[in-house]
Amino acid sequence: MARITLDHIRHAYGPNPKSDTDYALREVDHEWRDGGAYALLGPSGCGKTTLLNIISGLLQPSHGRILFDGNDVTNLSTQARNIAQVFQFPVIYDTMTVYDNLAFPLRNRGVAEPEVDRRVRDILEMIDLGGMAKRKAQGLTADQKQKISLGRGLVRNDVNAILFDEPLTVIDPHMKWVLRSQLKRLHKQFGFTMVYVTHDQTEALTFADKVVVMYEGEIVQIGTPAELFERPSHTFVGYFIGSPGMNVLPVQLQSNAVRIGNETLSLDYAPQTAAGAKTELGIRPEFINLGREGMPVTVNRVEDIGRQKVVRATFAGQPIAIVVTEDSEIPTDARVTFDPAAINIYANSWRVGRE
Ligand code: ATP
Repeated sequence: MARITLDHIRHAYGPNPKSDTDYALREVDHEWRDGGAYALLGPSGCGKTTLLNIISGLLQPSHGRILFDGNDVTNLSTQARNIAQVFQFPVIYDTMTVYDNLAFPLRNRGVAEPEVDRRVRDILEMIDLGGMAKRKAQGLTADQKQKISLGRGLVRNDVNAILFDEPLTVIDPHMKWVLRSQLKRLHKQFGFTMVYVTHDQTEALTFADKVVVMYEGEIVQIGTPAELFERPSHTFVGYFIGSPGMNVLPVQLQSNAVRIGNETLSLDYAPQTAAGAKTELGIRPEFINLGREGMPVTVNRVEDIGRQKVVRATFAGQPIAIVVTEDSEIPTDARVTFDPAAINIYANSWRVGRE
């Protein structure tokens, strides 16, 4: 398995890119550790597949280099990079049996037959196709075929990395949970470097130890699920992760306080920002206390979402969401306080740290 270095990667699909918006990837410069499980998360069109294909070698970047363990692989083919890749739709041999589909990549590399058998049976068990080993792939359902694809990606244990591009899209929801936890287990057992593209935050947060959030062709944050939740580095991350997302309110910054409309809120630190920057306060709906104390708020609507309620309200002229437990009482003259430790300040959309 390998450490993956993305060295100033930029990519434009069209000829003669002029401005940043002509680039599908604008500037990606990161190092992902050997054996890490990374989820690549972001909205449609943000560049996830482009980056994955550049790592695998299916696509040559317009600028920059890819290194595996410090060795430049930018000009190597996918095969030479020794990468396993699983796509959104099945890539299998229809005329082969389920067993042979999985055995093929191993036999191709000269693995001895008893070892082939052991590994194939292991993976067949994991993807829940143990009873179908002798069946021809062509008779199977779309989700069974996709499981074979997944199995083919996982059966080799000598690859530099395994890349997954939304591999569970066609799998039914229950099986998705099963396969996701199986993948996690396999990752723990074999420690392979894993990059998993998804636009589904639940999938990313449950699966990965580091989530790489992409937005408009850039990586805006790499963090643990807790870091992304508590300290979103960009207002987009705060908004995209969480349901509902982080509240973002325009504020005027004073040294260690902010003004929102007629309200003044003390901060537990003094953010440093450049003069003239657009400043905003970010607070998660879970960290706003709704009750009889604090600043006035107008409750507009309450949505019951099972064990919690989402209160849609207006605070200092701005719409906000507040999450409360299902048994919370919502007073008619409600007031709010913000947990100071949960407040993040942003200047031109980027978080201003507490240091
Ligand atoms: P999705 O979740 O929808 O797959 P994504 O985050 O994987 O999206 P990419 O497929 O990498 O995004 O696309 C990034 C940008 O590059 C988009 O604006 C897309 O339209 C553009 N793009 C992708 N593939 C091509 C291509 N072959 N030719 C031209 N433009 C492309």
